[in-house]
Amino acid sequence: MEKVGLSPRLYYKYPHELDGGRRQRVGIARALSLSPRFIVCDEPVSALDVSIQAQILNLLQELQKTMKLTYLFVSHDLSVVKHISDRIAVMYLGKIVESAPAAELFRETLHPYSKALLAAVPIPKLNRKREKFILSGSVPSPINPPSGCRFHTRCPWKTDICTQAEPRLYDRGGEHLVACHLVK
Ligand code: SF4
Repeated sequence: MEKVGLSPRLYYKYPHELDGGRRQRVGIARALSLSPRFIVCDEPVSALDVSIQAQILNLLQELQKTMKLTYLFVSHDLSVVKHISDRIAVMYLGKIVESAPAAELFRETLHPYSKALLAAVPIPKLNRKREKFILSGSVPSPINPPSGCRFHTRCPWKTDICTQAEPRLYDRGGEHLVACHLVK
């Protein structure tokens, strides 16, 4: 508990007596108690206030360094993903559509779904505008995904082959992989 920044006065508290940030620290302490080398962090900050999010992310990064941990960090918040990741994999309907080192993915985004996700991240500067990339349609059921490329029902670049053949992950160099017929 010391390692995750919890004061000794909290050791005998019940969960309902702790706020969300402290409860998350308890969760991290429980995971660390098994001395893992690899931890799956599934949306670890999504339910927290922004200021508490920053504290938990800093704690995770500090623990990663001191305990030489590897994380698989799952999140819908791309600014959080950018902050914490060495490598990013973008998934759509259960499949990886693009994967690259974090800086590379933000520098040169290739897959249209990744482009749409990045275009939706707000820029906290008055005079900076991001290129618009708006998707139409709703997300199909993952139980019964569309034929060919799973993204074709919403893709603005769709061609005939997209409805027939599923694109494989193609290595376009620099550890940057993308699953799209058009990019290939
Ligand atoms: S394969 Fe076709 S439908 Fe899928 S992302 Fe590429 S262009 Fe769009």
